[in-house]
Amino acid sequence: MEITVVGAGPAGLLTSHYLNKAGYNVEIIEEHKSVGKPVSCSGLIGRDFFEHFKEFDFKDSIKNRIDGAKIFCGNESFELNRKSVSFVVDRSLFDQSLSRELEVSFGERFQSFDRNKEMISIKTNMRRFNTDLLIGSDGPSSRIRTQEFDYKLRYYKGYQVRIKADLNLDNFVQVYLEKPFFTWIIPEGDGIYRMGTVSDNPKESIRKFIFEKSIKGEVIEVQAGVIPVGRGDVYKDRIFLLGDAACQVKPLSGGGVYYGALASEFLAKSIISGNYIDYPLMCKKLLGKEISRGLFMRKIYENLNENELQNIFDFLRSKKQILDESGSFDQHAKTIFSLIKDPKVIKFAPILLNAYIRSL
Ligand SMILES: Cc1cc2nc3c(=O)[nH]c(=O)nc-3n(C[C@H](O)[C@H](O)[C@H](O)COP(=O)(O)OP(=O)(O)OC[C@H]3O[C@@H](n4cnc5c(N)ncnc54)[C@H](O)[C@@H]3O)c2cc1C
Repeated sequence: MEITVVGAGPAGLLTSHYLNKAGYNVEIIEEHKSVGKPVSCSGLIGRDFFEHFKEFDFKDSIKNRIDGAKIFCGNESFELNRKSVSFVVDRSLFDQSLSRELEVSFGERFQSFDRNKEMISIKTNMRRFNTDLLIGSDGPSSRIRTQEFDYKLRYYKGYQVRIKADLNLDNFVQVYLEKPFFTWIIPEGDGIYRMGTVSDNPKESIRKFIFEKSIKGEVIEVQAGVIPVGRGDVYKDRIFLLGDAACQVKPLSGGGVYYGALASEFLAKSIISGNYIDYPLMCKKLLGKEISRGLFMRKIYENLNENELQNIFDFLRSKKQILDESGSFDQHAKTIFSLIKDPKVIKFAPILLNAYIRSL
């Protein structure tokens, strides 16, 4: 059986690795000239990822360990502490760790496909060929998704600078609540910080942030990309969508490496078992709830006014101890829903309801 994987990002590489190991013939097509470049990612990956995907050696890509975060809302802040909650990676080296032993056809851009009962015919900028299964792990602006699937999604623009500065944040991330997401400062190590945000004009938002915070430093790299937030089907008649192409991202933070990686495992298992329908079922069972609750909370978050946001922030600050002990880096919706059990939350019902109504 011939399997074609479009996109050599972490999702496509992981699924190719498992299929290759199981003896399948996998053809990976990548439009860029190498794996991992250009980078459009802050490279913050939770500990659960590394515990789950132990068989890979990520040593070379890990730049720093993160032990918590300082969360800001206006002029107020509080700290969350959790040793080794996440790691800062060099995304380019990280992706390369996943590509060992895989062959990739570089500089080849997927253009379209035709499907009949026997085969799927692929057209790229270089050639036409046939395949039995097609995996679209072609990132946020997936062509395969556009050609075959109907998605309800929104793109968010992200922009980040790597800057050499004297900030002394060591192993703590700073998060400034700014709708629609937040602004971040991530210490990469060696006096280098990743500062980024998501907005309609994130380049300008970061320039303003750096100016307002009087941050002095030398910008050594800029990175930009889009985050797809939404949902839709992940399988139709021998065609699979995976990773960012399938919006397998955490709706509240936009992080997608872990969810895409888990989905890559589900996909490889379902292809190996021959039960292709297991893939959408596993995605729904194991990621669906977190993503749909996250989408719901995103709607509310985006529609809070300043006062309402400050009230929610104060409540979260009062729950610092619970968040320190049981907050999850990768399951935001589960964490927030667990706080909702507190009877005090009832006073936020009108705020949440109003924000939800405004979102309609
Ligand atoms: C500013 C920003 C910060 C982020 N920070 C984090 C973070 O800290 N942690 C986290 O977990 N996630 C983060 N993300 C999200 C993360 O980068 C993605 O979720 C992740 O890269 C998705 O992996 P993927 O393999 O699905 O897609 P991608 O990594 O996008 O890989 C897709 C690949 O497909 C290739 N491709 C696309 N179209 C074609 C085509 N037609 N033909 C051939 N090849 C094609 C691309 O070149 C690319 O190599 C961030 C995103 C942004 C924009």
